[in-house]
Amino acid sequence: MSRYILALDEGTTSCRSILYNEKAETVASSQSEFTQYFPEPSWVEHDANEIWEKQLQTIRTVIRESGIEVSQIAAIGITNQRETTVVWDSTTGEPVSRAIVWQCRRTAPICEGLKQIEGFSDYIHENTGLLIDAYFSGTKIKWILDHVGGARELADAGRLMFGTIDSWLIYKLSGGRSHVSDYSNASRTMIYNIKELKWDEYACRTLGIPMSMLPTVVASSGVCAHTDESLFGISVPIAGIAGDQQAALFGQGCFEAGQAKNTYGTGCFLLMNTGEKRVRSSHGLITTVAWGINGTVEYALEGSVFIGGAIVQWLRDQLGIISHASESYEIATGVPNSAGVYVVPAFSGLGAPYWDMYAQGIICGLTRGANKAHIVRAALESIAFQSMELLDAIEEDSGILLKELMVDGGASRNDFLMQFQSDILLHPVNRPVDTESTALGAAMLAGLGIGIFPDREHLKSIRKTDRVFSPNTNETKRTERIEGWKHAVKMCMSHR
Ligand code: ADP
Repeated sequence: MSRYILALDEGTTSCRSILYNEKAETVASSQSEFTQYFPEPSWVEHDANEIWEKQLQTIRTVIRESGIEVSQIAAIGITNQRETTVVWDSTTGEPVSRAIVWQCRRTAPICEGLKQIEGFSDYIHENTGLLIDAYFSGTKIKWILDHVGGARELADAGRLMFGTIDSWLIYKLSGGRSHVSDYSNASRTMIYNIKELKWDEYACRTLGIPMSMLPTVVASSGVCAHTDESLFGISVPIAGIAGDQQAALFGQGCFEAGQAKNTYGTGCFLLMNTGEKRVRSSHGLITTVAWGINGTVEYALEGSVFIGGAIVQWLRDQLGIISHASESYEIATGVPNSAGVYVVPAFSGLGAPYWDMYAQGIICGLTRGANKAHIVRAALESIAFQSMELLDAIEEDSGILLKELMVDGGASRNDFLMQFQSDILLHPVNRPVDTESTALGAAMLAGLGIGIFPDREHLKSIRKTDRVFSPNTNETKRTERIEGWKHAVKMCMSHR
C-alpha cells in the first residue's frame, strides 16, 4: 500500500493541507481562508479556534478527495506563519484572547521601553539572534498577560500555555496531550536562547513571562507527537515542524552553509544557511535557527524586503496601470530599459540594511519621455535591487559568497524579474518546478523524520529545477544601475 505525507501549511491568510506521495509529488490539496481582524489601526488578530477548524476541514477534504485511507498517511509535517502568538488555558483548552499576529504593531511601545533597559538590546541580539521588535512573540505574550482580564492570575497558577501556531495545532491535533514547538519557531519568540538552546530566563523575567507557559522545544524532524485517535479513527505521527521561511529553505534543498533562497511574495524573505555557525549581523539582519535535526542545530541569516510583490499589487490597485500581476511582465519587456526611472517602495520605511522607519516611497528619474512601461519596469527592478542589498549584507556578515540563489513565491514566476535579479547579483538564479517550497519543506522534514526519505542526499534529488537564469549584462551597465538605485534610496530617506 502506498504511503503518503500530509503537510499542513498554515499561513497568514489561509490554512492549506497538501498530500505528497513517497516521491514528494503533490497528490491533493485543499485550502481555506480565515478571518483577519483589525480591531484598531495597526492591530492584527486571528481567531485560533477558527484556524484550527479551517485546518481540520482542509485535512478532511484532502483525505476525502484523494480517496486514501488515513492509515496510509505515514506522517504529518507542519509549517506555519511565524511569531503569531496564542495563549490558552490548559484546563479548558480555550484561548484567553484572539491570537496576536506577527504583523500587529500594538507592542511597539513595550519594545521602546525594553530598549531603555541598559544592555538589553545587545543581550537580545547576542542571545536570541533577534532585534527588539513588535514582530516577535515575546512582547505579544506580555501584552496578553498584562491586558486580558484574569490572564496574569491564570499564568501565576500555572494554567496558561503559550504557543506559536505550530504549537497550537499540535496541541489540538494531539487532543491536548502535547505542548511542543520546534527550534525554528522557538527562535522567533525573542525569549529563546539560540546559543544555549533553551528558553532564556533573563528575557522571560524581564518580560514577566512565567516559564511554565512555554512549550517543550523539539527537533524540526522526528516524531514529536501523535494525533488523537478520536480525530481520524487512528493515531498519525507528527514528524516535522518548521516556521514558514525555514521550511522553504529546507524545501529548496539549501542544506549546506552558503546556500540561500529568496521568496518573492507580498514581501521577500531571503535566508542563507550558515551551517552550525551563528553569524551575528552588523547590518540589522536576524540570526535564526534554520532547523534542529538529530541533535544538531543549524542557523541562518535572514533579511526581509517589506514591499516585494506588493509593489505590483500597488501598480494594479492604486495606480491602475496594470490589470493583473502577470501583465507586469509584458509591459516591462515592452521597453528596452527603465529610462533612468527608479521606484523605491519605502511605503512602510526601509528595512535592512538601512533601517529608516521614516523613509517614504518615491518614483524618481522621470523625464518627458518616461511612460507607464518604464514605471512598471522600475517597480519590478525595485524588488531585485532590495533583494540585492539584503544579499550584499548577508555576504558581508557571513563572509560567504553565494554561488546560486534559489527562488520561489508568486513573483518568482516573472521571468523578467528573475533575469534582472541574476544580472544585478551576477549570480545564477534557480527556480524550481514546484514553487510551493514551504509545504514541500514541511513534508520533507516529516518524511525524513519517519524514514520515508533516508537522508539529505535523497532529499536533494526531490527538488527539480524549472529554469536557471544566468547573468547576462555588462559590468558598466550594472554598476551604473546600482549607483542609480542607491542614489534613489538616499533621496527617499528621512535624514537625507
Ligand atoms: P504571499 O504568500 O505573500 O501571499 P505569493 O507567494 O502568493 O505571496 O505571491 C503573491 C505576490 O506576488 C503578490 O504581491 C503579487 O503582486 C506578486 N505576483 C504574482 N504573480 C506575479 C507576476 N507574474 N509578476 C510579478 N509579481 C507577481
